[in-house]
Amino acid sequence: STFEELGLAPRLLKGVYHAKFNKPSKIQASSLPMILGVSASGEAGPPRNLVGQAHNGSGKTACFVLGMLSRVDDSERSTQALCVVPTRELARQIVDVIRMLGKYTDTTVHLAVKQNEPDRRGGRRPTARNVPVTDHLVVGTPGKILDLIKTRSLNTTGVRIFVLDEADQMVDTQGMGDQTLRIKRTLPRSVQTLLFSATYRDEVRSLALKIAPEANQIFV
Ligand code: AMP
Repeated sequence: STFEELGLAPRLLKGVYHAKFNKPSKIQASSLPMILGVSASGEAGPPRNLVGQAHNGSGKTACFVLGMLSRVDDSERSTQALCVVPTRELARQIVDVIRMLGKYTDTTVHLAVKQNEPDRRGGRRPTARNVPVTDHLVVGTPGKILDLIKTRSLNTTGVRIFVLDEADQMVDTQGMGDQTLRIKRTLPRSVQTLLFSATYRDEVRSLALKIAPEANQIFV
């Protein structure tokens, strides 16, 4: 198949070609129509929750990045998409992919990671005051995103799409599964949830059932 057939907006197709992606990968071809809410016959349908088992190298990042960019209304200045990942490094990489594929949009993105990691003496530097976030997309770690929500620096009532990447790493990291569930509870009931994981162990399945009910499943 081709990217043109998958239902992407022209501004995102330009981003895809700018990234030099000529042809959708397997997971992109199978998941993008579901993520975008396009049926097999090309008709519009509701965007679906999705649980995807996919490894690095499958092209999964572009799936959820294009999903987030598609759901955002650039003319509204509010946060409309949230992406939660286990590490700062991964969050940074995803922000880079958003900038690349979103080159021909006016979508803005905020990196939400903690800067006050423990110093050498084991103490913590004082937490910097949170600045209100009004960017369309927010990508970060569950701890920092929850902190922004608690301090009312981030309003999640307008979030349309919620993404978890590397969910298996999240369930392995103390507290992250719970933090993610707490974030999820602040989102509108109608939010679309996409969960990606390299493995689909019981712990991941249990989180997926709570966070992405009635999801379509894709295994690559
Ligand atoms: P990921 O599995 O998301 O970590 O992506 C693996 C690599 O494949 C990244 O370097 C992407 O830039 C690249 N990539 C993703 N989708 C495509 C595509 N359709 N065509 C060519 N390269 C791609």
